[in-house]
Amino acid sequence: MIPLSGPDITQREKDLVMEVLDSGILGLGPKMKQFEQMMAEYVGVKHAISCNSGTSGLHMLIAAMGIGEGDEVITTSFSFVASANCILFERAVPVFVDIDEKTYNLDVTQIEAKITPKTKAILPVHVFGQPANMDEIRALAKKHNLWVIEDSCEAIGGEWNGERVGGLGDAGVFAFYPNKQMTTGEGGIIVTNNDEIAELCHSIRNQGRGEDGLWLSHVRLGYNFRMDELSAALGVAQLERIDEILAKRDAVAKMYSEKLKDVAEVILPHVEDNVKMSWFVYVIRFAEDVDRDLVMERLSKRGVGCRPYFTPIHLQPFYVERFGYKRGDFPVTERVADKTLAIPFFNNLTEAQVDEVVAAIKEEIANAKEPAAL
Ligand SMILES: *Cc1c(COP(=O)(O)O)cnc(C)c1O
Repeated sequence: MIPLSGPDITQREKDLVMEVLDSGILGLGPKMKQFEQMMAEYVGVKHAISCNSGTSGLHMLIAAMGIGEGDEVITTSFSFVASANCILFERAVPVFVDIDEKTYNLDVTQIEAKITPKTKAILPVHVFGQPANMDEIRALAKKHNLWVIEDSCEAIGGEWNGERVGGLGDAGVFAFYPNKQMTTGEGGIIVTNNDEIAELCHSIRNQGRGEDGLWLSHVRLGYNFRMDELSAALGVAQLERIDEILAKRDAVAKMYSEKLKDVAEVILPHVEDNVKMSWFVYVIRFAEDVDRDLVMERLSKRGVGCRPYFTPIHLQPFYVERFGYKRGDFPVTERVADKTLAIPFFNNLTEAQVDEVVAAIKEEIANAKEPAAL
């Protein structure tokens, strides 16, 4: 069995978690503050507000920016469902734009045509850890007076023109579920330079409490989106090791790219010249004549973890039912999504395991090629 993903936990993580347990302070304590400070410094922003998931971080930003009933937010369908759901939570509407065929990120040339008087924000997703074209997105946002929310949940440590993602728009979010580059168990964090947004997010994550600190005074509708101290301790230990973690992932990605480069039926992940990729997953794309689903089924049977990253959001049953989307609405997204596959990828994947995965892929491609037309 070679799993699709897995966390990288050392003695340091265990020690810090034990420290929290021994301290008796399990919520709203010093580890949360420490983790937030470290993260703000790492990303290069004024504020970091931890929370209990990437999804809740995105949700809070939509609420804090005053995006609501009938407002529109431009985003991508080639993502995890939470990046569009966060807009629906506040009764606003996600407006999808098709993707760039090489980077799989928002096709920035198609954004402007989707901007209407109701548009309030652009929400780019740095898909698989590759930063979206933030120059173009910021220029469009400035021109049309829109917020920019970076869904950086897959891209901690990624850089666009030498600048870390998360701090490139008005606010960004990172996520720390165990399959991400670094983990806190469940968890997420908002990063921003905007004082007002930061203050609102502090309040919203803590039941709408005001800044006066009175425990039973609630000045707005809020949630319990707080990060606990055990998660924060994990976050501190993982963030201390982030350079090592990202370097290990980079090395695994390089191994795959080297060993798969001569397989004619596989399109390797493309990385733009002006970005630093933060490898979240390693996603290959099969040629048109390869039946991806068949390869996936056979790899799974052999114990090689794999998953179709992503099924487009607009084709998720709930979105089809609610908005009437159909195949053909976003042709590039669909063409890419039909043939992409995430393969085993984690920090401590060995070269022997990479060889095993590559050999299995080659064999199963041969079994899954559609017969040539007569
Ligand atoms: C993981 C992820 C999220 C949500 O993170 P959770 O912590 O699982 O809520 C949001 N957007 C993208 C693109 C993600 O990959």
